[in-house]
Amino acid sequence: MKVDGTCHCGEIAFEAELDPDRVGICHCADCQTISASAFRTVAAVPGETFKILKGAPREYIKVGDSGNRRVQAFCPNCGSGLYATNADGERDLYNLRVGTLSQRDQLVPQMEYWRQSALPWVPALENTTKFDANPG
Ligand SMILES: [Zn+2]
Ligand SMILES: [Zn+2]
Repeated sequence: MKVDGTCHCGEIAFEAELDPDRVGICHCADCQTISASAFRTVAAVPGETFKILKGAPREYIKVGDSGNRRVQAFCPNCGSGLYATNADGERDLYNLRVGTLSQRDQLVPQMEYWRQSALPWVPALENTTKFDANPG
């Protein structure tokens, strides 16, 4: 499915092609902090389908507990989160922030990651595959 997104101020616009089965929620502590919310909703898209149409995102590099380096991109003007991708090597996958997508009302999370750090008041969704941490 073709999707398009913009940050809140409109300085940055992008598009991609996504599989609606690859929409998930992450409850990890990093996602809570970086999204400034209770959890983050993401859609994984193949790198070759992701195109920035307008603007230049700012990229923050997050280093995970495993030493894994991840790009966290946001609008330098309004601060809206846009995507995450590999900091090193090929950018073969982008995790788009579903809240920036025009089609977000059609994107239903199929998976929940890091349920072990979900905030206690967040109910588990009924029809998701749940992982205590990362899948696999
Ligand atoms: Zn913006
Ligand atoms: Zn996370």
